[in-house]
Amino acid sequence: MSKRREFIKKAAFVSTAAMLPGALSSCMRKENRSGALSSKKFKWKLTTAWPPNFPVFGSQAVEFAERVGEMSGGRLEIKPYAGGELVPAMESFDAVKQGNVEMVHSASYYWVGKEPAAVFFSGLPFGMNAPQTAAWFRYGGGQELWTELYNRHGLLGFPAGNTSGQMGGWFKKEIKSVDDFKGLKMRIPGFGGKVMAKLGANALLFPGGELYTNLERGVLDALEWVGPYHDYKMGFHRIAPFYYYPGWQEPGSSIEFIINKKAFEELPEDLKNIVLDAMVASDARFTSEMLAKNGEYLEVIKKDKSVKLLQFPEEILEKLREKTKEVLNEMISADPFSKKVYESYRKFHSLTYELYNIAERNYPPI
Ligand code: CA
Repeated sequence: MSKRREFIKKAAFVSTAAMLPGALSSCMRKENRSGALSSKKFKWKLTTAWPPNFPVFGSQAVEFAERVGEMSGGRLEIKPYAGGELVPAMESFDAVKQGNVEMVHSASYYWVGKEPAAVFFSGLPFGMNAPQTAAWFRYGGGQELWTELYNRHGLLGFPAGNTSGQMGGWFKKEIKSVDDFKGLKMRIPGFGGKVMAKLGANALLFPGGELYTNLERGVLDALEWVGPYHDYKMGFHRIAPFYYYPGWQEPGSSIEFIINKKAFEELPEDLKNIVLDAMVASDARFTSEMLAKNGEYLEVIKKDKSVKLLQFPEEILEKLREKTKEVLNEMISADPFSKKVYESYRKFHSLTYELYNIAERNYPPI
């Protein structure tokens, strides 16, 4: 074989391997051809960032654990815990890092205080939607960057589902101009909160269980939560009837699995593959369930005469977009890794934006 052909052959092999679904690339997902299965049993703890019995988020984590148990014939038993049961939700990153639990089900933007770039593995305001984000992880280099970032902490991060586009939130008063955000006490976490603060809002953060009471008592004037299903079940419409869309702050927030790398590496190859593929399946189930439930509950909300469903005026969205860009620029100029991830994220967003613009349309039913 000529040197050139040999080179091409090698290059083709390398690029194919690099393009295999992110973490499922050849370096991590190894074939188990020996046929011999170790009978050694493993017991893992999976803590979540969700309150007990939290629909979809919590229930999908439980289902993931059950499926791994079944697929492994009981050789890998994963016991799920709600946030606060074993460790407080916001301490779960440290718990898995220290090896007190082997796995976490959460959202990477909770960890921006430790690693600002973690936000990209959840999503950005005015960023990519659910399918774009999933494709970036698996075929656009996102997973490799995520692996590089979490490796600093001896951890592995993987997608666990996507909420898809969220709603803009519940407001006690109608929002007519950007001036209405001045002094507004709103529960809006993370990146979106920083954007709102630039418009003079008081961005606050409370655990889910305190939101209704704080809205009722006037500690909050407004809040954003998730989408029609989770929002309506919380009963926010009884206090703050103006329900705005779109959820510019979270157009496609990805949920994550975190695994302690050392614990993962201790597993035999077949169990590693079971965990990897069970996460992909869980990711798909989560995203589908969210869409189905939100579609169903938007209908319920539209029929509820106490809710005023409104779109944010275009000039407000423009202003929010402008401030998002400011927050983003501050972030990438302060943290080189954030800049690196943003470049990859933006490139993929741009490519898929063009495709969506011409080929993808949300048709009405025929
Ligand atoms: Ca939200």
